[in-house]
Amino acid sequence: MTAPARPDDCLFCKIVAGDVPAEIVRADETTVAFRDIHPQAPTHVLVVPRSHYADAAELAHHEPAGLADVLRAAADIAEREGLTEGYRAVFNTGAGAGQTVFHAHLHVLGGRSLQWPPG
Ligand code: AMP
Ligand code: ZN
Repeated sequence: MTAPARPDDCLFCKIVAGDVPAEIVRADETTVAFRDIHPQAPTHVLVVPRSHYADAAELAHHEPAGLADVLRAAADIAEREGLTEGYRAVFNTGAGAGQTVFHAHLHVLGGRSLQWPPG
């Protein structure tokens, strides 16, 4: 499937393209992962598909294998970061849920005790 065009104003497309610096921790053919600039846990990594989709549901709809790639990357990062106690994988979807960057991204959080339910 042809990936959608990258909007000029998308921060995460710019990180994927290398036009905005980020601390990249993992990259493969379809995903890029980098440390969140405002970490909420000792490990806080964002995994993004290289293709631009506004949110995880759009990614699932248009490129379901890409969604699986993001989740596989998260598991690999958790292993590399030594998150043996577990980790939380979160897609904030929609402004009301706290989504601020409208390029699908999975938060991978770990390294501290994580409350449930989240706030
Ligand atoms: P969300 O609020 O779910 O859309 O998540 C967006 C995340 O991107 C937030 O946790 C921000 O701290 C993070 N963020 C914003 N700008 C950058 C950046 N330049 N590099 C890394 N993370 C960023
Ligand atoms: Zn984008």
